Amino acid sequence: MPPRLNIVVPVKRVIDFAIKPRINASKNVIESNGVKFSLNPFCEIAVEEAVRLREKNKDVVESITALTVGNTKSQDVLRSALAIGADKAAFIDTATDDATPLSLEPLSVAKLIRSYVIKQGSNVVILGKQAIDDDANQTGQILAGLLGWSQATNASKVEIEPDFATVTVTREVDGGEEIVRASLPIVITTDLRLNVPRYAKLKDIMGAKKKKIEKFTPADLEVDVSPRLQVVSLQEPAKRVGGTKVDTVDQLIAKLKDAGAV
Ligand code: AMP
Repeated sequence: MPPRLNIVVPVKRVIDFAIKPRINASKNVIESNGVKFSLNPFCEIAVEEAVRLREKNKDVVESITALTVGNTKSQDVLRSALAIGADKAAFIDTATDDATPLSLEPLSVAKLIRSYVIKQGSNVVILGKQAIDDDANQTGQILAGLLGWSQATNASKVEIEPDFATVTVTREVDGGEEIVRASLPIVITTDLRLNVPRYAKLKDIMGAKKKKIEKFTPADLEVDVSPRLQVVSLQEPAKRVGGTKVDTVDQLIAKLKDAGAV
């Protein structure tokens, strides 16, 4: 009998997707006061997929652990993951400042996840393909490299084969789909169309509040999280200038010539 699936789902707390982040230019930081933070949408899809794998493959999934790296407030997203259906939660406290989330680099996060995954004896890690704050799209790939595991990124479908030791993943690529198959252990990252996460029931939200969260520091996991990159400047996109109307084609051509477009 192959080992059962011990799934870890790294989840990140980010500024809610519906909110336009504001930059405090004088301090070179993102304004975080009074701003709503939520579970990164791709991570929510990752938790949902882990829960669906358990629902579809009875007795094959041993455990689903949600893991977050951040500050005390990040534990909120662990409660969200528990409410969706994760059974355990772990928090690695890097005391990251909400205003400078970019100081926690994907390499550091991947090293922390790697240490935790080895400690936990996990054989499947499902991450979001991207955190919507740093848009790095790196953590899953770096993690697979550090662990020396197979990786299937941008998954739009995940199937456990009947041997329970092989996973088939459909990936969305330019112009179509690519289907890849690998043996466990594996790192998977989720694309937007993989699933539509369920709404957690009130009973599960209340139950999640009572669950114990395991806590670690980077020192416990023997990882140095000092940033290697320095944010030199942070700027909002340039304001869009409104268009103008012209009466004739000749005027249009003249304008385009002025603008150096023809
Ligand atoms: P990124 O590489 O930063 O775009 O993030 C990709 C994925 O890595 C996210 O969707 C999460 O699954 C995971 N991840 C990134 N940062 C964290 C974090 N601080 N805590 C837990 N998981 C994270």
